[in-house]
Amino acid sequence: MNSLWSYFPRWMRPPGASTQASPAAERWRATLRAAGAVPYYAKWRRELNRAAHAASDEERRTALLRLPEVELDYFFSHFRQFKGKENGAPLVRESRTVWAAECRVAVIAPWFHVGGGPMGGAARLFLAPEAAELQKFAPEVIAAPVDALEKLAGQGEWRQDPPLFAVVALCGVGTPLLTAAVRESLWRSLGVPVYVQLRGFQGEPLARECEAHNGLHVEPAEVILERRPSGELLLTSLANPRHTVLRLATRLHAWVDMRPCGCGLTTPRLMDLQPVAAQTITYRAPAGASLTALAGAVEEAQTAWEQEAAER
Ligand SMILES: [Zn+2]
Repeated sequence: MNSLWSYFPRWMRPPGASTQASPAAERWRATLRAAGAVPYYAKWRRELNRAAHAASDEERRTALLRLPEVELDYFFSHFRQFKGKENGAPLVRESRTVWAAECRVAVIAPWFHVGGGPMGGAARLFLAPEAAELQKFAPEVIAAPVDALEKLAGQGEWRQDPPLFAVVALCGVGTPLLTAAVRESLWRSLGVPVYVQLRGFQGEPLARECEAHNGLHVEPAEVILERRPSGELLLTSLANPRHTVLRLATRLHAWVDMRPCGCGLTTPRLMDLQPVAAQTITYRAPAGASLTALAGAVEEAQTAWEQEAAER
């Protein structure tokens, strides 16, 4: 059993364990219920039921050890096994705001539904990274998957009044990560800082870069991350009820910094996030050459894009 604990560095077992009523505990139980409803976990129901009683972060992580790790290839090629039964419950379309403050946000081809800001700021969806179209909207923030941002940067220097304020690079499992070279080229052409956000298959925030640009702060209520001995992260998202998968091997490497960040936050940070040296998988949505999307999320994201495009 001791060797299994090597999967869990100390940062993953915070001293202040959550109580039953914490958002993390509620999301945990909802995630296990959702897992219990997908075919893949049919033979793991007993473990899922036991795991539901886990009252602390530590107990939840121990409970996960009794459940299988899922390889990324397997998940992508069998994603129907991870899809819940249609039980008549309405789809909760939780919006996934990409910028906390009120401002004009242009979002290009995300794989998830993006809502307005908490203060009612405007988020507008764009289907393609066309500089001329975007500049008409005069966004203060542009958020997009890395390949869309690269296309934007390739269109030359950004001229806009009022000026752009920041760029958000949306990264996920199976999508391109922001490399130092791309970050540099974005800086040269757009002239603003880039903030990386790691997002789940439903767009749920998993980890995000702060203004110190020193690693990605993990969102503890949204995700449980384990680390294989190789350094590969195993992802258990607590906010993906549509295609529920536990302990997904992400093909992403990172190490974790527990030290307080220069920004003042004390949450753990994923450092040096990189793809595992093997081949990466990028799924492209059928409708757009520049879209990065993920197997299970394609259909619903597609619908959201069409709806929002029609509303404009
Ligand atoms: Zn920070």
